[in-house]
Amino acid sequence: MTQTATPPTQGHEAADETWDAVVVGAGPGGLTCGAYLAANGKRVLVLEANQVVGGSTQVFRRAGNKFEFDVGTHYVGECGPGGRMQTALTGLALTERIKWLRQRPEGHCQVMIPGTTFQTPTGWDTYLDRLVAAFPGEEAGLRRCVRIMRIIAAGERPRLRPYHLLRWGIRPITKLMDACGLSADAQAVILAENGDYTWPPYRTPTAMHAGFLHHYLQAGAYYPRGGGQVIGAHLTDVITTHGGRVRTKARVERILIEDGRAVGVRLADGEEIRAEAVVSAADFKKTWADLVGDEHLTRRLRRRLRDLEMTLPMFAVYVALDVDLRERGTPPLAWVWPTNDVDGYYREVEAGRAPEQMPVGISCPTAKDPEGTHSAPPGYSTLELVSWAPKGHEFWNVSGDPTEGAAYGRDERYLELKEQLTQRVLDTAELMIPDIRERMVFCEASTPITQERFTMTSDGSCYGIAPLIKNLGPFRPRVTTHIPGLFLAGGSTEHMFGINATIWGGMGTAGAVLGRDLVAEVRDGAVFVDEADLTPITDGFDPLLASKPGSVIRRAARRRPKATA
Ligand SMILES: Cc1cc2nc3c(=O)[nH]c(=O)nc-3n(C[C@H](O)[C@H](O)[C@H](O)COP(=O)(O)OP(=O)(O)OC[C@H]3O[C@@H](n4cnc5c(N)ncnc54)[C@H](O)[C@@H]3O)c2cc1C
Repeated sequence: MTQTATPPTQGHEAADETWDAVVVGAGPGGLTCGAYLAANGKRVLVLEANQVVGGSTQVFRRAGNKFEFDVGTHYVGECGPGGRMQTALTGLALTERIKWLRQRPEGHCQVMIPGTTFQTPTGWDTYLDRLVAAFPGEEAGLRRCVRIMRIIAAGERPRLRPYHLLRWGIRPITKLMDACGLSADAQAVILAENGDYTWPPYRTPTAMHAGFLHHYLQAGAYYPRGGGQVIGAHLTDVITTHGGRVRTKARVERILIEDGRAVGVRLADGEEIRAEAVVSAADFKKTWADLVGDEHLTRRLRRRLRDLEMTLPMFAVYVALDVDLRERGTPPLAWVWPTNDVDGYYREVEAGRAPEQMPVGISCPTAKDPEGTHSAPPGYSTLELVSWAPKGHEFWNVSGDPTEGAAYGRDERYLELKEQLTQRVLDTAELMIPDIRERMVFCEASTPITQERFTMTSDGSCYGIAPLIKNLGPFRPRVTTHIPGLFLAGGSTEHMFGINATIWGGMGTAGAVLGRDLVAEVRDGAVFVDEADLTPITDGFDPLLASKPGSVIRRAARRRPKATA
C-alpha cells in the first residue's frame, strides 16, 4: 500500500521517501496513532504545523529557560496499574519512559468555594462521605445524587443503568442536583472541577459529568514525571525509530481527495505528499471545513458543522514564585471559585462578557513532580492558573486569522484585556495563595487567541466539540469516515477528549487503519516495540529538545512488527 512522496521542502531530505500513512497533527492523538502504525510496520509521516510536537501537551520555557510551564497537562486520570494509560503505553513499550506520578492520594484536588474547602479523594465511597461531612444537612439528597451518578458512570448495578441513563443520564446535571434538593454550595462543590471540560452545567448531560468525575475518582489523578512534553517526545521516538518521520513547521492546507478517496495531503507551501491512508488529528471542524472542503461533505455532515459548538476556550496565567510552595503544604492542584453560581459564571462568558470574578484552576508542576529537572530551580515554584474567557476574534479585537500570522500581540485593546483578566485571575488565586503577588518573579498570560494560534483549534477551544447529547455516545464522530482512506483521531472523536482518552483513541484509530482490533490485542498482551530499539535515554535527556525538528535521532528503519504475548 505504499506510494511515492513528492520531495519534501527545505530542511527535509529524503526525496525518495514513501508513506503508507500521513497523520495531520502531532498532539497526543495523532502521535499515538502514528506510533502504533509505525510499530506495526507501516511507513508513517506525521505533519505538525507548530515547531514543537505535543499539541496541547506541549510545554514552553521562559526567563532564559529558568521556568517551564505546561500548556494542557495538569492532571490525568486512569493512569494507575491496569488503567487505560498503562495499557496504551504498554503496547509501545513506553511505560518506563512515560512514568505517571500519583498526586496526593488523600485528596488530589482542593476545591474552594466561598465558605467551603473540599478535598477530592479517590473512590466514590469516600467522595460521598466527604460530601456528607461538608453538607451534613443534605445527606439524603447527596446519597441519591451520588448513587445515580455512580450507577451511570461506573457501570455498577447494571440492571439499573439503562433506566438511570434514560431517566437522568441524558438530562443536564443541574436537573439531577435540583431534583435531589442540593443547595447551591453542594452543587458548586460537585461541579467545581468542570473547568476540565469547559462547558456550562445547565447544558451538560449528567452522563458526561458523572463520567468525568469517575475518570479521577476510580484511581486518583496523575502527572507525567518530567512534565507534559515527555508524551510528545517519546511517542515521536517510537515513530522515528520505526522508520517513520515527524515533521514540524509543516502545516497541512488540504487533504487530497481523488475519485472519492483520500490519497494524501498538500502543505501550505504547495508540497504534495501521497499516502494510502490519511489520519486527521487536527481540529474536527477545520478538518472538514478547511482541509477536506465542502464539496466532499455529505449533506448530514454539512448540517452538523453548521450548528457545531465547541467547548469554551481558556485564559491562562503562568506564574513563577520565589518560594517553594511544597514547604507550606500548598495543594498542587486546586479549583478556586469566588462564587457558588457556576452556571451564572458560564452564562456571562457565553454572552461574551468577562466577569469581574473568575474561577481559577491552579496547578503547580514543581509540587506535582518535585524531581522535575526543568520546571524551576530549587526554592522556586511554577503555577499554571487557568480560567475561561469569551471566544471570538471580535471580543479580543483581532482581525484576521491568528494561525495565518494576523498581528494582534501589540494591539492596545488586546493587551488591555489581557492585563485586566490577568489581574482577575490573580485576585482569585490570592484566595489560596495570599502572597502570590509579592512572591511573583514571572508572570505571562495566554488567551484563546494564543491557543488558536499554537494548536489551530476552532476559536481556541481546548477540549474539542461540545459535550452535548448530540455529540456523545453513538452520536460522537467515529474514527472512520465516509471517505475511504480518511480517518480521524484526537479529542473530538468517539474516544473523547483529554490526554488519556486521546492516547487511548490514537491506538483505536491505528487499529481502524490497520483493520485490526489493536485495543483487544494490546489488552491480550501484545507489545509491538522492543524497548532496546528506542533511542537510549541519557542523563541529559531533554524532552523539549527531543520534540523539535533536527533534534530527533533518526535510526535506520526497523520495520519488523513485534508481537509478544
Ligand atoms: C489549557 C488546557 C488545559 C488542559 N488540561 C488538561 C488536563 O489537565 N488533563 C487532560 O487530560 N487534558 C487536559 N487538556 C486537554 C488535552 O490537552 C487535550 O484533550 C489533548 O491534548 C487533545 O489532543 P489531540 O491530539 O486531540 O489534539 P491537540 O493536542 O490539540 O493537538 C493537535 C495538533 O494538531 C496540529 N495541527 C492542527 N491543524 C494542523 C494542520 N492543518 N497541519 C498540521 N498540524 C496541525 C496542532 O498544531 C496541534 O499540535 C487541556 C487542554 C488545554 C488547552
